[in-house]
Amino acid sequence: MFRNFKTVSNVIFGRGCFEQLSGILNAQRKSADGFMAFLVDDVFEENPLKERISLESGDLLIWVNVDHEPTTRYVDDLTHQIKEKDGTPDGVIGIGGGSTMDLAKAVSLMLTNPGSSVDYQGWDLIKNQGVYHVGIPTLSGTGAEVSRTAVLSGPEKKLGLNSDYTLFDQMVLDPELTAGAPKDQHFHTGMDCYIHCVESLTGTYLNAFSQVHGEKAIELCREVFLNGGPDSDDKLMMASYMGGMSIAYSQVGICHALSYGLAFVRGIHHGIGNCLAFDGLEEYYPEGVREFHQMMEKHGIRLSRDGLANVSSEEVEKMVDVALMLDPLWENALGVDWKEKMPREKVRGLYEDILSRG
Ligand code: NAD
Ligand code: ZN
Repeated sequence: MFRNFKTVSNVIFGRGCFEQLSGILNAQRKSADGFMAFLVDDVFEENPLKERISLESGDLLIWVNVDHEPTTRYVDDLTHQIKEKDGTPDGVIGIGGGSTMDLAKAVSLMLTNPGSSVDYQGWDLIKNQGVYHVGIPTLSGTGAEVSRTAVLSGPEKKLGLNSDYTLFDQMVLDPELTAGAPKDQHFHTGMDCYIHCVESLTGTYLNAFSQVHGEKAIELCREVFLNGGPDSDDKLMMASYMGGMSIAYSQVGICHALSYGLAFVRGIHHGIGNCLAFDGLEEYYPEGVREFHQMMEKHGIRLSRDGLANVSSEEVEKMVDVALMLDPLWENALGVDWKEKMPREKVRGLYEDILSRG
């Protein structure tokens, strides 16, 4: 059975295209007393970008904080805040990195689906179409702008709201918006894309659709992180998009499974968590890890180990539990007999290796 997957219907790309946002949104306004809800990363609260967000009267601007990756509780609180005070908006616009875009996707869905976002962590559990929603990345790499998931940490697990309804209706890809990102963050999020490509291209789920997107994306990552150049921001934005399209029809692998465990138990952010995990996976991704080390060296990156001190054996067990919940990732990496190849103690060994480095 082939998956008939949905893609984002409208895409605008180019330096300065953010200026066209108000026209795009005006076409979606349903009535004179309707409003749009903007969820914007609070890193921009004191940034000139703030003045460029064209609010109409009645529009709501909420500064979101992503010091911690999005939780189901935060999504429920934001949804409540919008609904109780102002009703249902004509649109939700997320401006920020993967975390902010995921918040916007999840809030758009929770405005039209009853209960808590916890109830929808999983695959195709969303029943009703969300409010029109727009993704505007300010970091490149996660592919959240094209994916059918909004990744959330809940009380039990870190798992996305995966559905066709989750996809943005519109994305605005303006490479100028990523220009001010700190060097380390730019690298970690960029490596998310690079690792998406390595895991997709070496996986057992690979097909021609994933391959063409993954090969182009990894080539762009190499240009950006090994050669550099004036149009690197444009290239990395397109790499993120193509890498996201590649995994949409295949899967990620071992590195992502391990990174989810680090995130759930110790709140390690996705980009750095991936880098910490990938750093020691030569056995599984020899060429990818070698090239990753070259990129680190070229950019003078030292991986931060903040948040990884004194991890107890109970915490390691929980990390293993979280990683092993992600069957498709392991199957993509190792094949249908992955459980024989990767028994629990081997996964524990991979975590012990990550924790012992540094
Ligand atoms: P992020 O959104 O978590 O942001 C990281 C940091 O960078 C934050 O402090 C943020 O304030 C700051 N930041 C963002 N843009 C900036 C800019 N232009 N200038 C300066 N600072 C900026 O980072 P991310 O790596 O883009 O996203 C990671 C998140 O994405 C995780 O929550 C992860 O679970 C999620 N994710 C989602 C998908 C998906 O398909 N939905 C895929 C991969 C990752
Ligand atoms: Zn990722």
